[in-house]
Amino acid sequence: PAASPAASQVPRYVRVNTLKTCVDDVVDFFKRQGYSYLGKAASVEELSALSGKKFLLDLHLPELLVFPPQTDFHDNVLYTSGHIILQDKASCLPAFLLSPAPGSHVIDACAAPGNKTSHLAAILQNKGQIFAFDVDTKRLATMNTMLMRAGVTAFQLAQQDFLTVDPTDSKYRKVTHILLDPSCSGSGMVTRLPQEEAAPSAERLRALAGFQRKALSHALSFPALQRLVYSTCSLHREENEAVVEAVLRDHGSAFRLVNTFPSWPCRGLAAFPGAESCLRASPTATLTQGFFVAVLERHGDGDASPS
Ligand code: SAM
Repeated sequence: PAASPAASQVPRYVRVNTLKTCVDDVVDFFKRQGYSYLGKAASVEELSALSGKKFLLDLHLPELLVFPPQTDFHDNVLYTSGHIILQDKASCLPAFLLSPAPGSHVIDACAAPGNKTSHLAAILQNKGQIFAFDVDTKRLATMNTMLMRAGVTAFQLAQQDFLTVDPTDSKYRKVTHILLDPSCSGSGMVTRLPQEEAAPSAERLRALAGFQRKALSHALSFPALQRLVYSTCSLHREENEAVVEAVLRDHGSAFRLVNTFPSWPCRGLAAFPGAESCLRASPTATLTQGFFVAVLERHGDGDASPS
């Protein structure tokens, strides 16, 4: 089945798995396969002009290569051996912006199929601990295979509802970072077929937003938490800015919204003062899937300034 016109303009993004290889070696590999390397892109326009057997290094993310939209690497040996991960650029933002130092303890609250977990593990250089949760057995099985293939070692994967994970359990006392990428309407995913693109009902949005708010609030109750990234592949304000706003109303004295990635061109909708600190992404503005990201940080001593 044909993809939607917007989807056909989104490039093929390839994240280099630094647990197994490095950007230079992957670039050399593709050059040997007949691709021409054009270096680091200077603009989003340069990404959209890619065609034929040409590729670039992304301008925003350090380990991301960019190929023309129709490129398919699912059979490529670098993919099947876990040296590269086929992951949309927007979906690389959460782990990149969470940026835990090697050795950190991190929770990936809604983790399957594990692309962001493997990205976190690469940033941690497999040092520290990732506690990953999901409720879906099938997706967890896929995730296990994926993490093995990617060489991820420092993780514990559990089939558990994140809302039932006890923040006071001593196991999690050193958890300083949480990535929360909960179930959402998926309304930002542009590869779907037209008949699947029907807008979610008001009732479904309310139910999703209810879960998202609960999960975000729960995440902020981990005692050692310093930094959290909340993300969705939804375009709906109810699941994005409105969730962040509602949760900050309750936790605003302890956590603030970070004005993250100032050079990112697409910002949160003006739903509340400071919402432009959030990031949005879309096929037209950023040549990616539709996406939303917010970064929250615990107020430091003497840091009570609202962002
Ligand atoms: N972060 C994943 C990645 O990058 O590969 C994608 C996560 S997907 C958007 C949302 C996931 O949340 C689904 O796999 C779903 O099964 C899981 N989920 C839904 N409710 C959950 C809950 N209460 N606790 C943990 N996981 C949950």
